[in-house]
Amino acid sequence: RVTVLGSINMDLVAATARRPAPGETVLGASFSTGPGGKGSNQAIAAARAGAAVNFVGAVGDDAFALELRQALVDAEVDTALLREVEGPSGVAVIVVDESGENSIIVVGGANSTVRDLTDLDLSAIADADVLLCQLELPLGAVTAGARRAKSAGTTVALNPSPVQPLPDDLLDAVDVLIVNETEAEQIGESVLARVPHLVVTLGARGATLRGPDGRTQHASPPVVEVVDTTGAGDAFAGTLVASWHLGAAAALDRACAAGALATTRGGAAASAPTRAAVDAALRR
Ligand code: ADP
Repeated sequence: RVTVLGSINMDLVAATARRPAPGETVLGASFSTGPGGKGSNQAIAAARAGAAVNFVGAVGDDAFALELRQALVDAEVDTALLREVEGPSGVAVIVVDESGENSIIVVGGANSTVRDLTDLDLSAIADADVLLCQLELPLGAVTAGARRAKSAGTTVALNPSPVQPLPDDLLDAVDVLIVNETEAEQIGESVLARVPHLVVTLGARGATLRGPDGRTQHASPPVVEVVDTTGAGDAFAGTLVASWHLGAAAALDRACAAGALATTRGGAAASAPTRAAVDAALRR
């Protein structure tokens, strides 16, 4: 079982020819909403990849909350530990222009209220095989979850995004750190060297995994027709932890294929592939 401790947002996406300058109003071409947030996206990806997943996080008491919870339920993610708090759910306001360039404002909302974990949260974490976290929740909650997991023998996987300095008590609990090339550079080799398993995603070039013995293995993604790379990193992370019990090498191959397949479809959570789709891609 995988427990995800993370964020859940409503993505509000407006497409426009040109992003507005300060003080300017432009007309948009289209608008869509959909569930997002790295925590929710990765939980849905892990469930699609075949894991039993439960989600620890928070939604608000607004109209978005129902839809956000339903997105997890539809993916068969257990939401018993998804809190409903007063105030707005997290949102990401996204403006995409013709060239595909975007500007994004994330308002944490309910996510920012997850400062402490309940006893139920902590026992779910202790009972899980893997805990997967990102850094879109308050750092204190992530650290508390990771430390509980480590002391209970639960594998701790962290996707440290958005990048911020990692406190020692968090870093010391991490078994698997999942970063892209930009994050790897920002975090720096001296910190990266401290985690037992370091996974670096390399976009179209796949991903590498450096194990506790210091050896590095590489996985190449299947050749795909890229439509939208949004959600590729989340599909990768969710699939990696869902497959971790198969061994690091197999998990890396599956995650790499899942990331590639996610680029063939639009959307964030909506683009994560099923276990069967990953199986098929690996057989090709
Ligand atoms: P992020 O989106 O978090 O920056 P990456 O761009 O490294 O992460 O992508 C994550 C994973 O998604 C890669 O390891 C790879 O498996 C897959 N992927 C991303 N872009 C492509 C692409 N253009 N072609 C094939 N696979 C891709």
